[in-house]
Amino acid sequence: MDINIFNSLSREIEKFEPINNNSVSLYTCGPTVYNYPHIGNYRAYVFADMLKRFLQYRGYKIKHIMNITDVDDKTIRDSKINNKSLKDFTEFYTEEFFKDRDILNIIPPDKYTKATDYIDEMVSMIEQLLEKGYAYRGDDGSIYFDIRKDKEYGKLSHFKLTDLKTNADGRMKKDEYDKENTEDFALWKAWDENDGDVYWETSLGKGRPGWHIECSAMSIAELSEQIDIHTGGVDLIFPHHENEIAQSECSTGKQFVKYWMHNEHLMVDSKKMSKSLGNFYTLRDLIDKNINPLAFRLWLYTAGYRTKTNFTLESIKASEVALKRLNDAFLDLSEYIDGSIDKEYKNKLIAYMSNDLDTPGALSLLWDLVHDTNISKADKRATMLDFDNIFGFGFDKLKNDIIPQNINELVSERELARENKDWAKSDELRSRINELGYEVKDTDNGPKISKI
Ligand code: AMP
Ligand code: ZN
Repeated sequence: MDINIFNSLSREIEKFEPINNNSVSLYTCGPTVYNYPHIGNYRAYVFADMLKRFLQYRGYKIKHIMNITDVDDKTIRDSKINNKSLKDFTEFYTEEFFKDRDILNIIPPDKYTKATDYIDEMVSMIEQLLEKGYAYRGDDGSIYFDIRKDKEYGKLSHFKLTDLKTNADGRMKKDEYDKENTEDFALWKAWDENDGDVYWETSLGKGRPGWHIECSAMSIAELSEQIDIHTGGVDLIFPHHENEIAQSECSTGKQFVKYWMHNEHLMVDSKKMSKSLGNFYTLRDLIDKNINPLAFRLWLYTAGYRTKTNFTLESIKASEVALKRLNDAFLDLSEYIDGSIDKEYKNKLIAYMSNDLDTPGALSLLWDLVHDTNISKADKRATMLDFDNIFGFGFDKLKNDIIPQNINELVSERELARENKDWAKSDELRSRINELGYEVKDTDNGPKISKI
């Protein structure tokens, strides 16, 4: 069955055909490590993880690279505010990111590339752009990309250079700006006092790279001049990915990325969740509210990756209840270990996911499987485990709770009350068990106890 995905470049659903048969090169723009990522950022990383899991499920061999932006305007600004060296400051947030990644069952990429480890590659790419006439040195000593020399500039964001209102010699030294301010952008930023001790002495002079050149240089160094899939949130389309295309294609003369895939935003009250608006939650915030962070993963699947989602604590809590039901359903099958994967369900899962990663459809199929009474318990368990290769809920890591002695005793007492048809006592005992943080479910195989 073909895999069809939406390519932001053509703005169409396209059949997925990797450049080299069975192997897929995948690059994900990773975090700028100047703060704890918020869960909007994790939408981007869970999306990339789910895409990768699915392609692996379909038999592709993936080489996945994710960068860590450990030098840019924001990391320099905030390391100074915090009186820390850039290295110490960014290493701390990199470690915090890794912790969240593990909590969310995100599979690590084959390699994390730190921008500061690839300065040489960036410098040589900028040298090529200078040689080919796509770049020039501004009077401030920084090196800029001349967007008017690149006839294809704007092809990802779908605008024409002739429509731009800016004057031809406008220059942008900042990493982030909006379309209205489209100008020649900085490849290499000549040192100024705001940079403090953050600089490299190179053939380009004393300075540091612009943010956009980092991803071009790292993806080409670790993958190839032509890569299959590049992911990120939609806010990266302009200017970051537009500029990545310009730099990479003008220096290599080849198409840089075959499929650009972008996740939509996680919103709060109709506004993008972001650091600057202050309307964000971190993963820690959810954990502090006693919410199972994997419920966030399930919550993300309830909408397609190209749909804006509105974050509310209530909706995450509803997903937490749903995840608990799934986990309980899986744990109830613990003893049935020798099943086989149901082919019909597997094919349906493939059909949903091959349709531009239809996770709401895939999730409803998982519920159908859980509720299906015609499939044997052993096969159901095996199929749930197989599905989890894509969902990443971590069913295989679930363990039946160790039930304390006093709870076991109350449950036995309740069983006795039920045998004696003393329903009032049985209900009272159930309430006591609940108060102590456990719940008891009556099944064909006797009472099942679990933590609430
Ligand atoms: P940054 O660390 O700011 O470069 O962002 C890391 C990733 O998170 C990028 O792929 C962004 O596009 C993505 N991102 C940022 N905010 C949101 C949001 N509210 N919803 C979804 N993705 C986001
Ligand atoms: Zn990037």
